[in-house]
Amino acid sequence: MDQLLTELEKQKIEWETDCPLSQHSTFRIGGRARLALFPDTREKLVGVLRMLQDAGIPVLVVGRGSNVVFSDGGYDGAVILTDKCRAVRVCGERIYADAGVLLSKLANEAREASLSGVEFAHGIPGTLGGAIYMNAGAYGGSMDAVCVATECYDLDSGRICTFRGAQQAFGYRTSVFEQRGRYVILGAELALKVGDPSRISAQMRDYWERRKASQPLEFPSAGSVFKRPEGHFAGKLIEDCGLKGLTVGGAQVSEKHAGFIINRGSATCEDVKRLVEQIQAVVLERTGVALECEIRFL
Ligand SMILES: Cc1cc2nc3c(=O)[nH]c(=O)nc-3n(C[C@H](O)[C@H](O)[C@H](O)COP(=O)(O)OP(=O)(O)OC[C@H]3O[C@@H](n4cnc5c(N)ncnc54)[C@H](O)[C@@H]3O)c2cc1C
Repeated sequence: MDQLLTELEKQKIEWETDCPLSQHSTFRIGGRARLALFPDTREKLVGVLRMLQDAGIPVLVVGRGSNVVFSDGGYDGAVILTDKCRAVRVCGERIYADAGVLLSKLANEAREASLSGVEFAHGIPGTLGGAIYMNAGAYGGSMDAVCVATECYDLDSGRICTFRGAQQAFGYRTSVFEQRGRYVILGAELALKVGDPSRISAQMRDYWERRKASQPLEFPSAGSVFKRPEGHFAGKLIEDCGLKGLTVGGAQVSEKHAGFIINRGSATCEDVKRLVEQIQAVVLERTGVALECEIRFL
């Protein structure tokens, strides 16, 4: 480990030992990671991955931590946080961006270049990498509609590879990266369309107002807990089962939006897990619908 830290210093890669993961998740939940790394370029991200693999240290890669629940026991390995890798380049109707670029920044860059297609992503509090991994979407838009190529580091071969078009295997909240779990997303190429900047701005404002009105943004959360079951809305099913306000420890079904679990201040990963199980059991018994988690327990 000492040798690794010396090498990180030499390569000017920021790191922290015994890092509280709760500070790197929008849910504010999680124990400590043995080591956290904050590379600020794509090259450093690849360098860090190679160093950790050579040292035999287990690796977990996250973006903004807005769709994850870190374990209360933390992580006995290295967590790489990509959100400092944030280069963005606009070229005609294409945007080339690093995995760690925040979606809000991406949407703003697109608007400034009069490009339409990522307005939907403006209020999603994650990174481009996390959004591609999850095929994030909102208000009828999703990453699969704009992401034409994704560059990755293959953890098995140690090679850099590019997935284009259908190779990315996007589906509802899934992608080849989520399905195979062996690729670290380094960056992507997005194909947008020229649009009217004032209409783009108005659209982004409208989506943001709708979020503020319907989502419990004043509390820590990881967004919608469950995937949308076919023919239903998870939040509506949960609300109809009378589960708004149901609480386990510090975790509570939001009164504002039943599809969200909020952290009332002291929630643990175990609280969230138990609350999720209770919701799933009640909804299944009363409606026959099996709710599947969208948030990821790491
Ligand atoms: C208030 C709120 C509202 C939200 N609204 C929406 C919404 O409208 N639509 C929606 O789809 N989601 C929504 N989310 C969920 C979340 O913001 C998105 O899924 C987002 O795209 C996740 O990005 P992230 O960088 O935070 O990913 P993380 O939470 O850090 O990671 C998510 C998963 O992706 C993996 N991952 C992250 N980066 C990489 C990488 N570079 N390479 C490989 N794997 C990686 C992680 O290991 C993890 O398994 C919301 C969340 C919150 C808190």
